[in-house]
Amino acid sequence: MLLDIYDPKAPPKPIGIDLGTTNSIVAHVRDGRPVALTTCDGTALLPSIVYYGDHGAVVVGASARSYATRAPTRTIASVKRFVGRGMDDPQIRLLGAYRFVEPASAEAARTVRFDVGERSVSPVEVSADILRSLKKSAEDQLKAIGGVVITVPAYFDDAQRQATKDAGRLAGLEVLRLLNEPTAAALAYGLETRSNGLFAVFDLGGGTFDITILVLDDGVFQVRSTGGDSALGGDDMDRLIADRILVAMGFAAAGVSAGGGEAVDAPPAEVVSLALESARRVKHALTEVTESLLELPRRGGGTAEFRLTRDELDALILPLLERTGRACRRALRDAGVEPSAIDGVILVGGSTRMPRVRSYVQEIFGQEPLGDIDPDLVVACGAAVQAALLVNQSDEVLLLDVLPLSLGVETMGGGVDRVLPRNTTIPAGAKSVFTTFADDQTGFEIHVVQGERELAQDCRSLARFTLKGIPPMSAGMARLEVHFYVDENNLLAVRAVELTTGIEQKIEVVPSYGLTDEQIEDMLIDAIDHGDEDLEARRLADGRVEGQRILLATDKALATDPDLLATEERAAVDRAAAALREAIAGARKASTIQGAIAELDRATHDWAGRRMDRAMKAAIAGKRLGDVAAEVQGAAGVDAHVAAHEIARAGRPPPGGS
Ligand code: ADP
Ligand code: MG
Repeated sequence: MLLDIYDPKAPPKPIGIDLGTTNSIVAHVRDGRPVALTTCDGTALLPSIVYYGDHGAVVVGASARSYATRAPTRTIASVKRFVGRGMDDPQIRLLGAYRFVEPASAEAARTVRFDVGERSVSPVEVSADILRSLKKSAEDQLKAIGGVVITVPAYFDDAQRQATKDAGRLAGLEVLRLLNEPTAAALAYGLETRSNGLFAVFDLGGGTFDITILVLDDGVFQVRSTGGDSALGGDDMDRLIADRILVAMGFAAAGVSAGGGEAVDAPPAEVVSLALESARRVKHALTEVTESLLELPRRGGGTAEFRLTRDELDALILPLLERTGRACRRALRDAGVEPSAIDGVILVGGSTRMPRVRSYVQEIFGQEPLGDIDPDLVVACGAAVQAALLVNQSDEVLLLDVLPLSLGVETMGGGVDRVLPRNTTIPAGAKSVFTTFADDQTGFEIHVVQGERELAQDCRSLARFTLKGIPPMSAGMARLEVHFYVDENNLLAVRAVELTTGIEQKIEVVPSYGLTDEQIEDMLIDAIDHGDEDLEARRLADGRVEGQRILLATDKALATDPDLLATEERAAVDRAAAALREAIAGARKASTIQGAIAELDRATHDWAGRRMDRAMKAAIAGKRLGDVAAEVQGAAGVDAHVAAHEIARAGRPPPGGS
């Protein structure tokens, strides 16, 4: 080999990593084009498998796979399925040959831990070991590496994204950002071909399926809709085949695909590993040939033959493909487009090499999918392109992701103030200003919710926190600003500041479980189904709160300025107040309450003017005008509940923001 000369002052190189369930890839941009780097296995694809040996030995990649049969519980594959999930997740125990550390407490159950012999490891640590190996390979080839862009499935929730970021940091990487896998694939294609139009990204990997409809317009990508299934992929095909292999080997149809661990007469973990490994080989072979024959050890001695044809495999996986089909049709519907409007279908993920997968995609979209970028490398290449763009501060390509569901705050009375509406492109920041309802209120409870329903009780609760220690003030005087900021990684930070005192509270929302696309869809359908009744319920709730606030203010004014009311005026005010009280208690329609509020407004109108005059004089005499004006406004029915609501589209974090 020639002497490898490099400039020690050369700037560190940004890299992109596809941290896959099955395979991981690292890429960088060389001479304006993304290329995958060679991993420690000597190939671009590094199997996402880690073996934990004695004395702290860690083996990653194809060499680790060879341990899977001998030491299955020390060999962790498909760790991505566990990232950011808890032990109580019903799916967790159905997966493969893992030995879990039984959680000692509810707290401990929030993350999975694998027992790998002399120690235990978390999914974040296993992911970090994979990333460390990729980092080392990249450093060997590029000398100094700069920041990294890591890709994640589009439907990873906040906890899963946070865990992925943690893994990056644990591996000593500077994580520039996380990027959705389909968006990365489209980025790789967009820059290669500079096409404009509507695209579908069909990503069927080992563990996840994602479908994304995107618009490409002069180098700018915009996500129109996303969908998929975070538990559907080539692994599921492997399990279906493995079940048949186990039967051929003389074991009961133990159902690897249905959680064989608990079945009576379950095959030992070593046998399950062997069956899964053989299944994968059969599946790969059937991508190239139409029939595959395998010799396997038979239970109780001797050998067993296992034969599978491509037609049989096609039939076996059809139910899985139909699930992808349903998700595709839903994504098309969400984007409001017909399949014929799609200008190109981009294939991503190793499973899209399978002939039946390709023909099925063709059936759904009525066109042959694009195939000019290697479906295994396309995501990592897109990540590398994004990393290079971020480091070079180029604004050439803007990646726009959207919020799947609205984020908001519960308001007094149980309504929802939507701070960031659904489909807002992220990163995005927005704030809402609230005020106190009652006099001398010294705390606010902030309840962060997600969803489209009008009442907070029908939305998904994300977090609650309180802002305490506010000095006593008149109702309506405190100014509470609630800031929402969703960063490019879909992490939500909520900050509440009481503006007159500067008292502040922050919280990062990391819900322990995310939502599947089905749940998101259900929530949307729910909101549509309940649209009219929700709106009325919301108006009623808001009307009650407004009415109560006005009654409080009126009572207060009656206590301080009764002398400014003529006798018959006083009687009218009392009558209107009593009617409003009754409406709040018993009305079934918001309009009844609104009518009563208007009536009380009329009854107090002239009186409010006189009170304002007196307030002015008092102000001149030294009393704080603000206090008095707020009292008068309160009585006059000025709605100060949600005083301001503005959306600031933010390409970058707001100045001074986190
Ligand atoms: P992930 O994104 O989950 O890491 P990949 O995109 O690397 O997954 O795809 C891995 C899946 O693709 C595995 O289930 C693997 O068996 C499957 N796969 C890879 N190559 C082939 C092939 N030639 N034929 C069939 N399946 C394949
Ligand atoms: Mg993938």
